[in-house]
Amino acid sequence: MTKRVINFSAGPSAIPLAVLEKAKEELLDYNGTGMSVMEMSHRSKEFTEIIEKTEAGLRENMAIPDDYEIIFIQGGASLQFAMVPMNLYEKGKPVNIIHTGLWTKKAIGELKNLTEYRIAASTEADGYRRLPSESEINIDKNASYLHIVSNNTVVGTQWKNFPKSGDVPLVADMSSDILSREIDVSKFGLIFAGAQKNIGPAGAAVVIIRRDLAERASEKLPIMMQYRTYIENKSLYNTPPTFTIYIMKLVMDWIKSQGGVKAIEKMNIQKADLLYNAIDESPFYQSPIAPEFRSLMNVVMRINRSEELESKFVKEADRAGLSGLKGHRLAGGIRASIYNALDINAVKKLIEFMKEFEKKNG
Ligand code: PMP
Repeated sequence: MTKRVINFSAGPSAIPLAVLEKAKEELLDYNGTGMSVMEMSHRSKEFTEIIEKTEAGLRENMAIPDDYEIIFIQGGASLQFAMVPMNLYEKGKPVNIIHTGLWTKKAIGELKNLTEYRIAASTEADGYRRLPSESEINIDKNASYLHIVSNNTVVGTQWKNFPKSGDVPLVADMSSDILSREIDVSKFGLIFAGAQKNIGPAGAAVVIIRRDLAERASEKLPIMMQYRTYIENKSLYNTPPTFTIYIMKLVMDWIKSQGGVKAIEKMNIQKADLLYNAIDESPFYQSPIAPEFRSLMNVVMRINRSEELESKFVKEADRAGLSGLKGHRLAGGIRASIYNALDINAVKKLIEFMKEFEKKNG
């Protein structure tokens, strides 16, 4: 029998088993074509249907309004750190960014070379263990846009209420919490996310952009750097990551089969509550993040600040079939990423293991 572990990895991460099984079933012969989606022309009738269904599935699952375009693009979320300013920055209107961790640091790294920018708030002085309050955030009224990261994958913080940016378009990197909770897309100018957490395998990113914003870019930008290229060509200007897009379609179908994002969100809250409660109830484990900022997706915990015990925990958990629990190299500790594909039983197994480990080492 195939051995499957419980995968708590931060990304690439677990894919719903039903999706993998469907992909396996269709791997050699997709829908009677006698070939794998991997081998198929991106211009074929079958693939055209796949990419259209992927887009329609995402639109339905996120209730994306009609005045927003969806594109599939390579280069991961990281390319968007450059592509967003290249397309959305308007001269004399500095980009504003709220600095909350490693992934805004990387975005700022690109802004340094590309545009004027201003940090509208930062929690760096607190080790990013919290998010800024409304009174700390100072947004330029004439900013080109405001950049935030909705869920900070490394430290484990997540915006519950997004900052209000007025007429300034809000741009959100939702790489690690897209499709995990209901959001009102119309509040955003642009949303982007790498696929490899809640959308599917690595190899693509999704950009959801209000149509008018895509027209800001100079037509002198490299063609592959303009959002309008992807919009006009329905993400088929060149060869897209076809197999990744196909798996994304299966993930969209799976989300619908679960009752949609609303039902997924309910599960995610239950999963996170269970895990944070187990941490809070024990004197052995600690959460470095105050409850109001805690991520539902990436649960970071420490063991009495003992790196030795933490590393023992990760090793023994791995042996027990609980994989990917090592914290990010910058944050240390233990991190359980409990994306959509992990169900409540996965969290219960982790808690059982935590209790056993505490008994032996506490
Ligand atoms: N933003 C966030 C919030 C992330 O978690 C990650 C990856 N972990 C990235 C950006 C970078 O994504 P990619 O590797 O797809 O460039």
